[in-house]
Amino acid sequence: MTGIDDLPIRDELRGKSPYGAPQLDVPVRLNTNENPYPLPEPLVARIAERVAEAARDLNRYPDRDAVELRTELARYLSRTAGLEVGVAQVWAANGSNEVLQQLLQTFGGPGRTAIGFEPSYSMHALISRGTGTGWISGPRNADFTIDVEAACKAIAEHRPDVVFITSPNNPTGTAVAAETVLALHDAAQAARSDAAGALVVVDEAYGEFSHRPSLLPLIEGRPRLVLSRTMSKAFGAAGLRLGYLAADPAVVDAVQLVRLPYHLSAVTQATALAALEHTDTLLGYVEALKTERDRLVSELRTIGCEVTDSDANFVQFGRFEDAHVAWQGLLDRGVLVRDNGVPGWLRVTAGTPAENDAFLDAVRELMKEKS
Ligand code: PMP
Repeated sequence: MTGIDDLPIRDELRGKSPYGAPQLDVPVRLNTNENPYPLPEPLVARIAERVAEAARDLNRYPDRDAVELRTELARYLSRTAGLEVGVAQVWAANGSNEVLQQLLQTFGGPGRTAIGFEPSYSMHALISRGTGTGWISGPRNADFTIDVEAACKAIAEHRPDVVFITSPNNPTGTAVAAETVLALHDAAQAARSDAAGALVVVDEAYGEFSHRPSLLPLIEGRPRLVLSRTMSKAFGAAGLRLGYLAADPAVVDAVQLVRLPYHLSAVTQATALAALEHTDTLLGYVEALKTERDRLVSELRTIGCEVTDSDANFVQFGRFEDAHVAWQGLLDRGVLVRDNGVPGWLRVTAGTPAENDAFLDAVRELMKEKS
């Protein structure tokens, strides 16, 4: 049998594993930070309508520049994220993972490096590797906030081409202060003052769930600062695959150099536009999830767990002597959470009130067993 290593794959991919959260069929699935609420029926009907319209033109390639969709995304950001942005400042792709990949293809690549502050979203390192970009793992404080001094020192030392700042951070839930983003941004520009500077990517996939306002206004007057967003979480549309960025129009022009022609299908564009028509209903679910997230934090603390403050739709909790054993203990009780490999900690996504109750009951049993 031929194995991967028998094939002429790139050396840096040898022995590596693909991204893979287990997709197990259990009663309570709280492991991939999905929104637990299915799209409301009127929106499902509207998607069917818009997709039917798009189907009549499927013999043609879709709008390559997705202008209508980008216009509506710009309107959404302008209305909710604290800065008026126009279509020229917004770009969209198949999930924010593709947005990040296009950014790394444009601003990273062989001979270049990217830095992130770990633990953080593992795909930043994986997409870096996939695009031939060297990966630098930067530090965090013990409470999972970014250690600004250590981060700026690492930036000055390594002089990265791309800096990732995830706010709220996955898997810890930690939001990043605007002053921290600015300090890292300025350090990155200073470190690359011999070149054209460095690109700073603020990954705000969970931005809508934060107690704090969006970091979007920071892009104003900073052409090397990019904000990345997604419809996978707040819009409850992980299956849609629609991510987007907001930045200086020059960044939007630059990613056109690497995007595949017609990368966003007409069906994707039609579906995303339908979802954006129902923004207010979907943001209502976000409010319910924020309340549930805050309840998870306080009830887990009452149970006796350590909990990291969360601004996302998930909560990091522990500490367990062996997080994997605890993960299995919860799975045995029908609850799937995520073991992100942070020693002692697990991550649970905020689900429906009933799912969260089932999860909390399982943790109570687990803690009783422990003591
Ligand atoms: N950024 C962060 C921090 C994430 O956690 C995720 C998904 N888990 C993504 C980006 C990618 O999401 P998507 O490709 O679905 O937009």
